[in-house]
Amino acid sequence: MSDRRVVILLGPPGAGKGTQAVRLSAGLGLPHVSTGDLFRENLSNSTELGKRAKGFMEAGQLVPDELVLEMLFDRVSKPDCAEGYLLDGFPRTIPQAEALDVRLAGEDTAALLLEVDDSLIVGRAAGRLLCKSCGNIQHLEYAPPAKAGVCDQCGGELHRRKDDEPEVVRERLVVYHDQTAPLVGFYENKGQLRRVKGDQSPDAVYADLLQCLEGVV
Ligand code: AMP
Repeated sequence: MSDRRVVILLGPPGAGKGTQAVRLSAGLGLPHVSTGDLFRENLSNSTELGKRAKGFMEAGQLVPDELVLEMLFDRVSKPDCAEGYLLDGFPRTIPQAEALDVRLAGEDTAALLLEVDDSLIVGRAAGRLLCKSCGNIQHLEYAPPAKAGVCDQCGGELHRRKDDEPEVVRERLVVYHDQTAPLVGFYENKGQLRRVKGDQSPDAVYADLLQCLEGVV
């Protein structure tokens, strides 16, 4: 066993992975590595990778594995990940999970599944607001900004992600069930899966996540 701790957050789009990842990252002292954020950064900087990922993201489809893996492995090679990291939105396919597994041989790993029923997902995503400046996530209903359209954390502009439009979210859900849900069995077979009910208050979800991690990583 190494001293490196790797925590994987799994769950459908809009399950609260991003919100919980920010808290867990601070609570566990592990860098938050979100492949969605990395792609959005590449998009707004108009990099070659961003241009290649754009069409897939806007359609609610997955970006091809080889692009994701190269970007992710580059990120987790950085010095801040030397003692571990928290993965949000990765892996999303069995080949991604297998590639990660090869890289992580012998390291303490936990996969936390945020379970939320499909019937709640579209409404949740539709109310989600993302800060253009600091990436803070708020919600029209669950974490409403004190001033409409303004980030509580940094005063930046809040906006709705294009891929949170109901039509795109429905497509992302289909993709989730088809390509990402098989990861539940993958991590269950390895004895690394922990399930948390995602349809509770953010505080209750966070407390459950921390409890799942006790003595594991
Ligand atoms: P997220 O912010 O995690 O919901 O990701 C936004 C979008 O980025 C997804 O709908 C995909 O198009 C793309 N993406 C993020 N992570 C991955 C991944 N691990 N594999 C493939 N595509 C991804």
